[in-house]
Amino acid sequence: MARLPILNASAGADLDLPDAVPLAGRSGIGRPGWLNDRQGRKLRYLRFSVTDRCDLKCQYCMPAEGIPASPREDVLTFEEVVRICRIFKELGVTTVRLTGGEPLVRRNVDGLIRRIRDLGIEDIAMTTNATALRPLARRLVDAGLKRINVSLDSIDPETFRSMTRGGDVARVIDGIDAIRDAGIGVVKTNSVVVRGKNHTHLPQIVDWAWDRNIVPRFIELMPLGEGAKLGTGAVVPVQEMKALLGDRIVTDADPEHRSDRGPAGYVPAARGGGHKVGFIGAVTENFCERCNRIRITAKGDIRACLASPKGLSLRDLIRSGNDDEAILAQIRESLFGKWSGHHFNVSGVDDHEHVNMSALGG
Ligand code: SAM
Ligand code: SF4
Repeated sequence: MARLPILNASAGADLDLPDAVPLAGRSGIGRPGWLNDRQGRKLRYLRFSVTDRCDLKCQYCMPAEGIPASPREDVLTFEEVVRICRIFKELGVTTVRLTGGEPLVRRNVDGLIRRIRDLGIEDIAMTTNATALRPLARRLVDAGLKRINVSLDSIDPETFRSMTRGGDVARVIDGIDAIRDAGIGVVKTNSVVVRGKNHTHLPQIVDWAWDRNIVPRFIELMPLGEGAKLGTGAVVPVQEMKALLGDRIVTDADPEHRSDRGPAGYVPAARGGGHKVGFIGAVTENFCERCNRIRITAKGDIRACLASPKGLSLRDLIRSGNDDEAILAQIRESLFGKWSGHHFNVSGVDDHEHVNMSALGG
């Protein structure tokens, strides 16, 4: 297996750090306050996979035969998840997004949200396939869920069924209706665009979403795990997606990026009305310089980059009796070396093909 190139270690003098926070030094390690990596990126966004189980098997994410779920004792308990969130809050994290696998298959996920909110973290979000959303919607919002991203690769029942290997799009749409009725602040959809599967469905998804004040987002297929097996021919570049939307959007607008809202660039609707479409050019547009994310797998491994196949085990640190201060120091050290980029397009580097998206959480 090819290895990754050595990190770009240029850092230091031009770090763009907030003035209000006292710094003990420039190393980024062992000082109180904010968490930054050696590129000077402020890491404020924690993406937590709470399970590696899922009730669907999307073609770009899970193999047809599924992936054996981790034994329950290997997966972080909610107690451990909350403790980790508390430590990251100390380090300046302001947003926690729960993902999976499918986060709604984990029992009492609303109770977890409530406990995270009680830590003082107000921006709590979730990425879900929404198949189990309807009965949980009210409880999630009451517990403190502010924003939700729902995977919706097509609103055509047959295409959806085929891409998810059996999913029922009517259930997903019903779940979206339920969480909107429950008063959630923001709903977005995520569609992974796969040539020959759903790439002609983009206009239909946009019209459907805008009618409901939902922000549709389109994601380039990433060469991770099952996604890599679909081949580069299946990738539809963002520029082509925009062209497929024709006069619905202002195609020559500079995409709006919000550093606290992830990698998507948003383009306004041509007809106005405040509508927009998000594009995530994971392959053709390098968003890494804006990346402020930290990922934690269901088993408690930190992944500084979604293309990184390994990382520090917080679970092992916790279960071997370390106190919060010791864990905090290890987190700083491991994230300071966050990769400068994902290397998808570096010839001969294929570590990312061994990343399992359903364990990592997207
Ligand atoms: N099960 C939930 C869902 O589907 O929304 C959360 C986990 S899923 C792994 C998170 C996100 O990763 C989804 O939006 C999914 O579409 C995206 N994803 C999975 N595999 C991908 C791939 N190969 N390329 C691009 N996005 C991918
Ligand atoms: Fe499950 Fe989400 Fe992966 Fe689809 S993308 S198989 S819903 S984890």
